[in-house]
Amino acid sequence: MSNYKLSLDYAQKQDQLDPLSSYRNQFHIPKDKDGNDLTYLCGNSLGLQPKSTKAYINQELEDWANLGVEGHTDAKNPWLPYHEFLTEATAKLVGAKPIEVVTMNSLTANLHFMMVSFYQPTKERYKILIESDAFPSDKYAVESQLRHHGYDDKEGLILWKPREGEELLRYEDLEDILEAHGNEIALIMIGGVNYYTGQFFDFKRITKLGHSYGCKVGFDCAHGAGNVDLDLHNSGADFAIWCTYKYLNSGPGSLSGCFVHERHAHDKDLNRFTGWWSHNKDTRFNMRHEFDVLPGAEGWQLSNPPILSMAAIKASLDMFHEVGFDKILKKSKKLTGYFEFLLKTLGEDTIRIITPENPDERGCQLSIQVLNADKSLHDKLTEAGVISDWREPDVIRCAPVPLYNSFEDVYLMVEKLKPILTFPKGRN
Ligand SMILES: *Cc1c(COP(=O)(O)O)cnc(C)c1O
Repeated sequence: MSNYKLSLDYAQKQDQLDPLSSYRNQFHIPKDKDGNDLTYLCGNSLGLQPKSTKAYINQELEDWANLGVEGHTDAKNPWLPYHEFLTEATAKLVGAKPIEVVTMNSLTANLHFMMVSFYQPTKERYKILIESDAFPSDKYAVESQLRHHGYDDKEGLILWKPREGEELLRYEDLEDILEAHGNEIALIMIGGVNYYTGQFFDFKRITKLGHSYGCKVGFDCAHGAGNVDLDLHNSGADFAIWCTYKYLNSGPGSLSGCFVHERHAHDKDLNRFTGWWSHNKDTRFNMRHEFDVLPGAEGWQLSNPPILSMAAIKASLDMFHEVGFDKILKKSKKLTGYFEFLLKTLGEDTIRIITPENPDERGCQLSIQVLNADKSLHDKLTEAGVISDWREPDVIRCAPVPLYNSFEDVYLMVEKLKPILTFPKGRN
């Protein structure tokens, strides 16, 4: 790590040595008006489009054109079991067993469906614990669940907060909260990789702690899937959900993934919302059968799913499978480490990285707090051809994605940031 060098030569040399460098060519890289590649560091928000995606979607468009309804059974990739074509690769990617995962709905919808099953408040135990800087949608969702069950959404919500003057969350503080309130908490729901700081939590530790007080534990892995080693089965978590349009490059608003731990796979009594897609596949089309729930995560499906969106997910998962997630993670650590090294050369009096320094406690994203900055800094960076993400009041989030970002990308980002930072004291 310590032999990183601050030079374009070095960055380009690393790209030549990088066994995954050719994958950049398999993506559409957004261009500036002169046709040059933009420095795209926003895969944490919307992953880029693999060039192969079009053919996967076209296959389904053609089968729909040629076969109409018969495509459900006769398409090259029959639509009735289409979601099953995603199961194995998804399970592998998130560290789950096939019976534990399914692709369905959108992310926040799945969070609600999971809470229908895993947030079952009683008079004594009805509170929900989340991290204080949770993604807004998650916070709104858990608050509305509290209200739905007749509880006050302020009184019923417990926040795990960073300490004064800190950004990252400490496990000791979570332990203290549980010691004081563990018996009142029905559900712990944490953003597995915090969207703001990039902190990747220890799922096993949180789950073990939560379970020891009798709480259910779930993780929103929107910023984790395709980015870090989630190891969901071994974490012991009751459920997890994620989207596929961030690090999984499956297109804006694409479907969500869902994990339900194997220990719940055959529990037919678990409360849930159901539809015909949660019903036994063998008798689904007899239509008049008593409801017979599918085992595993599939038993939480409701509707027949949008195949065009699933085709985009298949294109992406096939690429992850071809490359191998281990290799992706290896490059990710090196690339983000280089990015961190370069940012640190800018000096601690101008920027501060709030993401954990330990590579095992983060993914590829670095959240950079720029001292005295306002949104105009982000505008200038965009003008200079760097696509990143701004969070008020003063944080730029950048995610060098190992499949399509290069060492040169992060070098260029820091080179372009440098002149914008050197503003005179007292500017407004
Ligand atoms: C991106 C993201 C969402 C977005 O939710 P959608 O339902 O897909 O619009 C929600 N939660 C987290 C933690 C996210 O990162």
